[in-house]
Amino acid sequence: MLFTESKFMSCDVNSSARLPLLESLREKTASPLIQEMRRRCYEIAFGAEEGASGKERLRQLEHAIAEMSELDKGSPYVQGDLFCFEDHVLFLIFKNSAHNDDAAGIQAGIIYTRQTAQPLRRLDAFCQEVQERVICASLSKQTEAPAGWRRSKTSRTTAFERFLAKQDIDFLFTAARRETAPQRVRAAELLDDDYTREFLRRTREAHLEGCPTKLLKGEVSGESGFSIDRLSEAGLVLREVLISCRTTGHALFRLPSADALAVITVSNAKCSECGALVADERVEDVIAPTELAAALLQDAAWLINRIYTILRRLGVPAAEIAIAPVTNLGEAHVMVNICGEAFLFVLRDGDLTPALARRAIDAEMEAGVARLVVVATGRVRDEARLFLSEHAARRARGGTDIEVMIIEGVNAVASELRRALERFSRDLIAEELCALDANLGFSASRLVMARFEMLQTNLTTNADYVPPPPATTSPHSSTRGEVKLLLPPLDHESPDARSSSVNERRDLSLSM
Ligand SMILES: [Zn+2]
Repeated sequence: MLFTESKFMSCDVNSSARLPLLESLREKTASPLIQEMRRRCYEIAFGAEEGASGKERLRQLEHAIAEMSELDKGSPYVQGDLFCFEDHVLFLIFKNSAHNDDAAGIQAGIIYTRQTAQPLRRLDAFCQEVQERVICASLSKQTEAPAGWRRSKTSRTTAFERFLAKQDIDFLFTAARRETAPQRVRAAELLDDDYTREFLRRTREAHLEGCPTKLLKGEVSGESGFSIDRLSEAGLVLREVLISCRTTGHALFRLPSADALAVITVSNAKCSECGALVADERVEDVIAPTELAAALLQDAAWLINRIYTILRRLGVPAAEIAIAPVTNLGEAHVMVNICGEAFLFVLRDGDLTPALARRAIDAEMEAGVARLVVVATGRVRDEARLFLSEHAARRARGGTDIEVMIIEGVNAVASELRRALERFSRDLIAEELCALDANLGFSASRLVMARFEMLQTNLTTNADYVPPPPATTSPHSSTRGEVKLLLPPLDHESPDARSSSVNERRDLSLSM
């Protein structure tokens, strides 16, 4: 999944100043891709010429063609440019005053993956560079210096901020810290399995009633994925030894292990019920659910953790995920800000009923978001589905589009969520970069997408590719070495993953 972030600066960079600005950025930042492409084109058409005079000729040609085109169309020739780096792409777009935005200005942005180191710092450095160039240009022309960069402020960002403002700060911090605890993450992953959840619930109820759950042979290390050993490793259950009286059947005591029992039998301890030696009483392996299991099963806590983990693995920063306290009806609300767009998640460990659909809509209206994701681990009732789609249609008729996504069953969450967020990020980047399409001659966003996808595919297809030692400096290192920086293998889902079995799909989600 790709992310994008951009900043705006109000200043009128008129058409004659745009080409010099790109040229000056060429020295400090990188070659502007579209300008470079134009110049290669001229070279093919007019013949290449070496040296400084050749470069000057290209510059003159570019200016002459820009002038001709502007006279023809009445709009600036240069709309912006792209700057490609190993693991990110920077873009610069000149906003004309005729745009629906308030004033003319420059938009500088970055498109990056979750592997990109410090993307926001890179964007800031780029903004700084652009600003310096613009100030230099405006000083030489005695015009007003630009006011500085501001973050793109859309109503969606404020929806996330509004949600944050309503939450208790301490709760937000502790919730985020709690969800990242490795043991909790590992345990919640096991709870994806319906049978495991049911088993733990049953065990817990039995435990509270005072009847210990006996350990059955088949459950110790089942082949179906369910195994007590795995639950015990994840800290969800404790294996204990229960000693009970053979005569009365009363439980005498529980011990953490068979070793502890050895200590007691050596001491010749006697049963308080019948007086027989403890060594002669009934010994059974039993299991007891842990506090962690109880905490995760309560109020869909494990589901919150799953969603949190999936989002974090997709690359969403922790600061952009806000978890609200669970409602008194057992629903969890999680607000996520992705590239300036707020997503409200309503989670329920149970069926999606019409009543839940109604409450989800209320929450969405209150939060003022345009994207609602309802995750229910049980069945989605037709009435609830209808209710949500009717609501979306009503909103669309009213002119405020809302996207409602329903995820049924927890096995599909990781893949469905990823597909949906990838689609969202693709649309967003296409919208950001469409201003460059005319200059480039084809879709700029497709070019960027294809580039990132190629980097990802290279990584997954070369799964056992051993990277060369970092010291080698081959003449191709600048192009071939791109792959090296993205070393943590990205999980690239094959198109047939949808048809794979549930277990495979779950493994896929774990390896994200
Ligand atoms: Zn006894």
